[in-house]
Amino acid sequence: MLATAKLMPIIKVPDPILRQAAIPVAEITDGTRQLLDDMAATMYDAPGIGLAAPQVNISQRVIVIDCGKDDEPELIKMINPEILRISDTRTILEEGCLSIPDQTADVERPAEVEVQYLDENGASQSLVATGLLATCVQHEIDHLNGVLFIDHISRLKRDMIMRKVMKEMRQPTSRK
Ligand SMILES: [Zn+2]
Repeated sequence: MLATAKLMPIIKVPDPILRQAAIPVAEITDGTRQLLDDMAATMYDAPGIGLAAPQVNISQRVIVIDCGKDDEPELIKMINPEILRISDTRTILEEGCLSIPDQTADVERPAEVEVQYLDENGASQSLVATGLLATCVQHEIDHLNGVLFIDHISRLKRDMIMRKVMKEMRQPTSRK
């Protein structure tokens, strides 16, 4: 039986774990399922629509996503996700990240992706994602490869965002 989900501290830039490639989960255990539950609770509490394990200081290929509407949650837990196919059509959506507090930018990505992953019981699943979900899946899988959304924008914009975040974090009175 799993324990009650607990909130995990969210790692922020420039922590080096956010730049490491995470390791595939070799065996899905109660520990993995507990991690998924804790990550989901942490994501909802933030609040956010996606969270990758490196963002809670665990370098494993595990993500949680919920792009559902407020009254219709659609929690997806993915272990070892792989993108099988991307569309030629691209889309631009505004992205933010719990590890880069209070900053957003328009990011261009493939509009549709097909993803294969293991669910919490170890069964292979696949998902064709479009719209916000497609962007969210790519953003979270990026985290497993040490990539952040700011890597997809111009250097000028990226430097500006990083300067703002670092300045904010240096202020003792700043919000979390
Ligand atoms: Zn993120």
